[in-house]
Amino acid sequence: MTTPSLLILPGDGIGAEVMTEVRKVIDWFGAKRDLAFDVTEDLVGGAAYDKHGVPLSDATMAKAQEVDAILLGAVGGPQYDDLDFSVKPERGLLRLRKEMDLYANLRPAQCFDALADFSSLKRDVVAGLDIMIVRELTSGIYFGEPRGIFEENGERVGLNTQRYTESEIRRVARSAFELAKRRNNKVCSMEKANVMESGILWRGVVSEVHENEYPEVELSHMYADAGGMQLCRWPKQFDVIVTDNLFGDLLSDVAAMLTGSLGMLPSASLGAPMENGRPKAMYEPVHGSAPDIAGQGKANPIACILSFAMALRYSFDEGTEADRLEAAVEKVLADGLRTGDLMGPEGGTPVSTSEMGDAIVAALTSSL
Ligand code: NAD
Repeated sequence: MTTPSLLILPGDGIGAEVMTEVRKVIDWFGAKRDLAFDVTEDLVGGAAYDKHGVPLSDATMAKAQEVDAILLGAVGGPQYDDLDFSVKPERGLLRLRKEMDLYANLRPAQCFDALADFSSLKRDVVAGLDIMIVRELTSGIYFGEPRGIFEENGERVGLNTQRYTESEIRRVARSAFELAKRRNNKVCSMEKANVMESGILWRGVVSEVHENEYPEVELSHMYADAGGMQLCRWPKQFDVIVTDNLFGDLLSDVAAMLTGSLGMLPSASLGAPMENGRPKAMYEPVHGSAPDIAGQGKANPIACILSFAMALRYSFDEGTEADRLEAAVEKVLADGLRTGDLMGPEGGTPVSTSEMGDAIVAALTSSL
């Protein structure tokens, strides 16, 4: 079997710092679990702009299309704020998502027991929470035409168009059902079929995919506004939620905040299966480059480490090793280790970025 390939794009600010810790974890799996990766590292965002004058070079884009998975840190920083829109660091990220057609955005909301008091909701509502929001990422109202601001009857009108084709709905629904099969076998689809035609089509196509391809998975439907309410009331009722780009944007932020800090949140963006059966995939923490703490050893590397755990599970079929890595994270948190962002009123042992990475590697070793 060929060694799986991984393109690492640390990016800017704390992106590079947290990625250093992920490299320790990757090396550990190579050394101790016979799970080696063919790793290449390259530039994205401001770092790529500084060297090549563009936030993602064509050569890096070509590499991205060839590898089994991409792991990205974060892009951006105040020094790039005045650049022309076309070369801003974020454009590098958008180019990757667009050219790889990464249409399914996976945002897990997982609440580690040791951090349950961090949530704004009661402990029993969030402790042990483990749900997954699948947001359609490349279509819907953020992309639909016509759009714009124009004059009509002597006043300005702002227009955006919600538009979905059957095939766009079908492919993201399949992603959600496939995920549910590896989890607790439940999908809840959210839209506004009561007031939107695109919602009626969404509900119909998701039901068809269910009936024809995944009858063994439990499917329910919910209006997205009620879904938001239910996410705050009793989120543990869900396993996988699948929804469109706009509702997914809102609902995944709500779900993410159930769990506490930005420094804890991983994500994945998946596209169509490649020849080897693996989906095109990019894994990245939800947080940005955090210029306010960059270079100070304060960044929490867990979001990026958990993004690698997602890569193990969803790109490399190493669910058991992903569980092992998540358990190692759980252990260091239960032991009271805290980067600054996790330091609550109950205190804990303050650790730096690299101390957190080292502790997770040590917890991995003690899991053997
Ligand atoms: P941010 O996520 O970088 O930071 C928000 C706050 O959270 C800051 O106070 C930061 O210190 C803290 N924080 C974030 N990640 C943390 C971590 N791992 N550990 C500890 N604390 C953490 O968002 P922002 O400040 O709005 O944006 C900063 C830059 O990042 C901007 O240039 C923005 O465009 C960019 N950005 C990039 C991405 C991405 O690469 N995916 C996402 C969001 C923002």
